[in-house]
Amino acid sequence: MTFFTDLTPCTYFAGHLAPSPQLLAVGWLDTVHPFPRGAVAHHTLLRLARLVAPDMEPDAAADPLPPGVVRVPWQPVLACGYHECEICSHDTTNWPPALHPRHSDRVLIEGRTLRVGANNLFVPGDGVVYLAPDLILHYILAHDYLPPRPFLMAVRRCPGSHSAAYRDLIVANGPSYLRDPSYWQGYPPRDPTPMPTPGTSQVWRMLRGWLSRS
Ligand SMILES: [Zn+2]
Repeated sequence: MTFFTDLTPCTYFAGHLAPSPQLLAVGWLDTVHPFPRGAVAHHTLLRLARLVAPDMEPDAAADPLPPGVVRVPWQPVLACGYHECEICSHDTTNWPPALHPRHSDRVLIEGRTLRVGANNLFVPGDGVVYLAPDLILHYILAHDYLPPRPFLMAVRRCPGSHSAAYRDLIVANGPSYLRDPSYWQGYPPRDPTPMPTPGTSQVWRMLRGWLSRS
């Protein structure tokens, strides 16, 4: 996979997405360049996993897909093909237990096996959008990769990529060309705010009002 220094403009999709200081690379690792290592908080890791696999989002159950259809993260350009972890391919002598079984394309988290290697994540930050391969989940779990702090903060507050809130954040913080509606076709934003349902006190007030009228 192509290497990019973290937090530098990502030109991986240069043929489709013009390089921009508002589109920054995170997690484009290879076997040549050293990368920072450290612990990522579990709740951040879980949030990242849900961005990789939108079917893990709590509200996904309310919007089921046909059997066999898997929800993928929003991405304006689909990568052709599939990437394996070069670090694993380079050295298979020290496979960590987090790896599910000896395949860098599978990540085991929260009792679920997620497939990675085919999609990319666009995570809105402050005035920028981070572009990361979904293999980043494997890099963290299997190789202790520590992504830059601003990216982790952005992951923690990132709404599901199938929500209107997510689209608004990408449009507000990313390169202006991401406003193009053509990039959002097939991803009808779902209102992240659930329809209000009457709480207990509301029901009681309604009942009291009805009793007082009768
Ligand atoms: Zn690996």
